Amino acid sequence: MKDRVKIFMFSDALGYEIVQRYHFMMEELPVRLPVRTQFGYSSTCVPTILTGEPPTKHGHFSFFYRPKDAKSPFSIFRRLHPFLHPSAVFDNHRIRHRVSLWMQHRLHYTGYFNLYRVPYACLPFFDYCEKQDIFAPHGLAPVKNLRDVLTESGVPFHISNWHLTDDQNISEAKRLLEEERTEFFFIYTAGLDGMLHFHVHESEVVKKHLEAFSSKVRSLLETARAHFRQVDFCIFSDHGMTPLKGETDIKSRIEALPLKFGRDYIAAYDSTMLRVWFLDPNARKPVMDAVSDAPGHWLSAEEKAVLHVDFADCSYGDEIFLLDPGIQLVPSDMGNKPIPGMHGFSPDDRDSMACILSVHELTDHPREIADFFRLMKQAAFELKAAEG
Ligand SMILES: [Zn+2]
Repeated sequence: MKDRVKIFMFSDALGYEIVQRYHFMMEELPVRLPVRTQFGYSSTCVPTILTGEPPTKHGHFSFFYRPKDAKSPFSIFRRLHPFLHPSAVFDNHRIRHRVSLWMQHRLHYTGYFNLYRVPYACLPFFDYCEKQDIFAPHGLAPVKNLRDVLTESGVPFHISNWHLTDDQNISEAKRLLEEERTEFFFIYTAGLDGMLHFHVHESEVVKKHLEAFSSKVRSLLETARAHFRQVDFCIFSDHGMTPLKGETDIKSRIEALPLKFGRDYIAAYDSTMLRVWFLDPNARKPVMDAVSDAPGHWLSAEEKAVLHVDFADCSYGDEIFLLDPGIQLVPSDMGNKPIPGMHGFSPDDRDSMACILSVHELTDHPREIADFFRLMKQAAFELKAAEG
């Protein structure tokens, strides 16, 4: 039996509202705190947790951004897109998936990569932010990520493989706990996010999933306690999940204007926001006016600063129109239909709130998800200090 282990479990979309409503592991995890999410998607939140830095520093926000020199890794689609016309067979889900895999292979990207439903003709106007595996060594360089910091600390650690399933990641962690050689764990789970996107409104389904998840976590805790005298364990999340309240078609409004994509403006239609770049300054007013009465608002410069998305080079949009909580942009570059649950709304939305649940009182109370990084760094420091 060894002295001490510190286990951090990441559960994508385990929001504070959900854990409280469903009394998720109330007894085992009595310390329960709401934590403000970072505005954006998991593509923003996870890099924030892995570095403790805001998007303006680690550079990851939505997947697609406007390259500074207008050089796009997708320029090949300039020639290809006439053959990949949307009405053609090439736009179906399976073919797009194949095209994504082919591009990923061609570009040697090791991060999570998906072309989603960004029209082939629009791709040459964009770059993609998650080119590298953000969990790998220097995966978020020049900013240090969790792996870089843990490697420097010298503490024996384990970070789950995000390509694997939750069950595989929990089994692997258990196996390492039994070996008693690893003192710091970051266990990655994302099954809940996938389920909540489609079933957040079905309480029986959510309840069952959470019960099954609880028993896996309990079993992991039992293994840890059988091999370590002191087990510090917590679960935290990146954001919650907001049930669908309505949809709005912003794309048709923009496309109805006498303006041309790629000549006058560029637009990225995310599931909860429109991001737009004005190539012709005269396009600004008609575009902004066209959506101003949709259920949402244009973010002010002050709001962008508060939300940490005031990118100096406007690489993620000259302007951002954020929808009200629960309203989805349909159609978007992510899909043609609304889905029961989505995240990526204002961090002030109750359903978007992330959380941390812990077996013991925490030395430091995280207020926003970037603080999880500091908590983990502190834990590694403590383990190192205990080693003497
Ligand atoms: Zn999600």
